[in-house]
Amino acid sequence: MAQLSDDCFAFGGALMAVEEAQALIMARVPPPEGEEQVPLSAARGRVLARDLVAATPLPPFANAAVDGWAFRHADLRPDAPTRLVEAGRVAAGQAAMRPVAAGQAIRVFTGAPMPPGADTCVMQEDVTQDGPAILVPQGLKPGANARPAGEDVALGALALRAGRMIGPAEAGLAAALGQAMLAVRRRPRVGVFSTGDELAEPGGALGPAQTYDSNRFTLLALLAGLPCEARDLGILPDDPARTAAALAEAARGHDLLLTSGGVSTGEEDHVRAAIEAGGRLVFWRLAVKPGRPAAMGVVEGTPVIGLPGNPVAAVVCFLHLARPLLMRLAGAEDQGLPRFAATADFSYRKKAGRREYVRVTLATGDGPTRARKFPREGAGLLTSLTESHGFVELPEATTAVAPGDAITVLPFAGML
Ligand code: AMP
Ligand code: MG
Repeated sequence: MAQLSDDCFAFGGALMAVEEAQALIMARVPPPEGEEQVPLSAARGRVLARDLVAATPLPPFANAAVDGWAFRHADLRPDAPTRLVEAGRVAAGQAAMRPVAAGQAIRVFTGAPMPPGADTCVMQEDVTQDGPAILVPQGLKPGANARPAGEDVALGALALRAGRMIGPAEAGLAAALGQAMLAVRRRPRVGVFSTGDELAEPGGALGPAQTYDSNRFTLLALLAGLPCEARDLGILPDDPARTAAALAEAARGHDLLLTSGGVSTGEEDHVRAAIEAGGRLVFWRLAVKPGRPAAMGVVEGTPVIGLPGNPVAAVVCFLHLARPLLMRLAGAEDQGLPRFAATADFSYRKKAGRREYVRVTLATGDGPTRARKFPREGAGLLTSLTESHGFVELPEATTAVAPGDAITVLPFAGML
C-alpha cells in the first residue's frame, strides 16, 4: 500500500476548516519545557508551572467583616432586640485574647480576629448604644458579618492550577497565600516578520508605491498580551532566497515565527515556498473569511505561521491559529476567545463551507445586545477594527443572517 506523507493531507485541494487546522496544531505542538522562579511583582502575564496549593487558609483566622460588635448568636433573643454588655475591644492587627461570655459583646473593627466564643457580628450602624450596653436588633443570622478561617481558600486546597496565566486576580490570590516567588514556565520566543517590497518602516519616508507596515505592529501588540517574548524581525523583501534564508536563520533562535503577507498564489508570494524549502508545510489554505491564504509549517523544528497580508485577515488568522498555538507552546490553559450571545441587527448572505467573521458595532440597552454590521467590508481596512466593536462568528453551515437571529459575538475588548 502506498505510504502517505504528511503533506498529502495538506494538499487535498479543499480549503481546511478552522477547527481541523487547530486540531492539527494541537496534535503537533509539544507542551513546553523548563521553568523559572519570578518575583510575584514581575509575574503578570506569566504561566504557572506548578499547581499553587494553599499553605495557609485564607483568611488565616476568623475575623470581623464590619466595624461593630462580636458576640455569640445563641445569646440573641429570636423575637426582640437583645441587650449585650460591652466587655472588651479588638482592632485589626490585635490578637483577640479575651473570650466572649454569655450576654457580652466585644467591640470589633473590620479585619479584627473574632474573639474566642464569638460567631456573629452586628454592624455599628444597626446598633443602639445604651451606656456600656448595646441593643442588637432581632433577625441576625448565625455567622452574620463574620468571615470564617479558610472561607476563601481552605488549607491545602488547590488555589491555582498549573497553566494558569497570572493576571491581577491571580497575583492578588498568590500574594494572599504568602507567595513571594512563583514557578512559571519559560516564555516562548516569537519572531515577527512582515513581507513585501511595498512596505516602509513607520517613521521613515514613504516612497512612491509604498505603504507603511502596519501588521508587524498589530501583531507585536497582540503578542504583548500573551505569554511570550515577542521580537520584531523587520520586513522581508519579496525574494524567495532571502525569505527562505531569513526563516531558516530565525527558526534557530525562536520557538514560533509569524510572517504576514506573501502567502497567496501570486508570483511575488514566497512565504509558502520558503516554508517548503526549509522544512514542511502542514497546511496552506483555510476556510475562513477574511483570511483564506494562511500557511502553517515547520522550519528547522520551529513552527511557522504565514498570516495573510491584508490587515483584518492577519488579525483573524492570528486569533484562530497563532494564538492557540502560542498558548500551547507556553503551556497556558486556553479559555479560548471571549464570546457572547447577541441578536443580529442586519441581513447578510454567505457561502456555505467557510467560517466568516463579520465586523459589527454593538448596542446595549433593554434586552439582548444587538450587533449591527460595520458598513465597510474590505479586509484591508484598518479603521474597520478601530471603529467596530467585535466580530460576529458565522459558522461554516450558515448561509444567511436575518435581523433578530441569534448570533455569537467575539468582542474586541480583551482580545484586540
Ligand atoms: P500579500 O498577501 O502579500 O499579497 O498582501 C496582501 C495585501 O496586504 C497587500 O495590499 C499588501 O500591501 C498588504 N500588506 C501585506 N503586508 C502588510 C503589512 N505588513 N502591513 C500593511 N499591509 C500589508
Ligand atoms: Mg506581499
